[in-house]
Amino acid sequence: MIPNNIRSQFPILDQQAHGHPLVYLDNAATTQKPLSVIETLDAYYRSQNANIHRGTHYLATTATEAYEKVRRQVQQFIGARHSHEIVFTRGTTESINLVASSFGKRYITAGDEVIVSGMEHHSNIVPWQLAGATLRPIPFSDRGELDLCAYERLFTPQTRLVAVCHVSNTLGTINPVRQIIDMAHAHGVPVLVDGAQAVSHVPVDVQQLGCDFYCFSGHKMYGPMGVGVMYGREELLSELPPYQGGGEMIETVTFEHTTYNQLPYKFEAGTPSVGDVLGLGKAIEFMQQLGLKNIADHEADLLRYATDCLLRLPGIRLFGTAPDKASVLSFLVGDSHPYDVGTLLDQLGIAVRTGHHCTQPVMDRYGIPGTVRASFAVYNTRAEVDALYAALERILPMLM
Ligand code: PLP
Repeated sequence: MIPNNIRSQFPILDQQAHGHPLVYLDNAATTQKPLSVIETLDAYYRSQNANIHRGTHYLATTATEAYEKVRRQVQQFIGARHSHEIVFTRGTTESINLVASSFGKRYITAGDEVIVSGMEHHSNIVPWQLAGATLRPIPFSDRGELDLCAYERLFTPQTRLVAVCHVSNTLGTINPVRQIIDMAHAHGVPVLVDGAQAVSHVPVDVQQLGCDFYCFSGHKMYGPMGVGVMYGREELLSELPPYQGGGEMIETVTFEHTTYNQLPYKFEAGTPSVGDVLGLGKAIEFMQQLGLKNIADHEADLLRYATDCLLRLPGIRLFGTAPDKASVLSFLVGDSHPYDVGTLLDQLGIAVRTGHHCTQPVMDRYGIPGTVRASFAVYNTRAEVDALYAALERILPMLM
């Protein structure tokens, strides 16, 4: 059960937007932050701020210990074998770019192929193109389910990697990543999982999944912006070249030659966002205290309720109706442009996202310009779904 007073931990929710109580349903873009995370950032800059790893003084040592503690916390949170398999980045986008750049330098040459799904975020498409790969997309059904038979046929001797999202940010589909990974490994191909939309909704155990890389962002799981994680299997990370050069990632430097630091520091060049990493640790604590299962059950209830509500309205078209879905509801109202719907809802205090959600190939697949997307988090309520329904009912005559 989610405690009734959960919203009191999120001060931002208690405000008006355009004269109406704010109803925040844009959680797939970013979640709001609980007081414990906000206070952690405040406390860090009040009493702990120092550059880490390189100092011998009190503050540097305390900040370093706190930072490394979160690395071990993340290791446990996603079930990694070693804490040095956890690399802190700025977010999912940087995590994927890191792998595309380092793995790409080592293994991808012109004509090589990367299999992605047809529902990837641009962050899991463009980095592979930049790395010089040819993309082979896995098609998906009208309901938003990947076609695994077609996937099997995409493997060729040129396939270097499979890169798929765990949960689609536009359709909500929870992809069968375990099966996708097993199938890739049967071809000797490693797999990167984009977990940006998964970690706050489904329990993740990277060893059970067997994935080679797993990437996610702090800000989509109640943590701060500016911090994310790239998990990589030790064997792979050890043989990859560094992503960026600079401080901390080196062992020795001369003008002729540089040797690199051990894992994970080889991939963490420059001063990291220490306060944000500590905030990420608090966000993990927040979710674990509530219980991931409780969060998932609460969101599943909201998704079911909202789906039933919306389908009662005339002219609503849902996109993404797979049985295994996270709390994302993408829809269109008749032939109205999603921006019009989003703007009218905003005037009534309802925050949803509109557009292609950085998944233009998904929009092309359905032949639409974009969708309206409502996405739920642990602090949302059935009353807020009612508010969305009432607002849609009110604006329908203006749209049809
Ligand atoms: N992948 C997916 C599935 C996403 O939903 C997002 C963000 O919406 C990203 C990647 C990129 O995340 P970030 O902008 O935090 O780097």
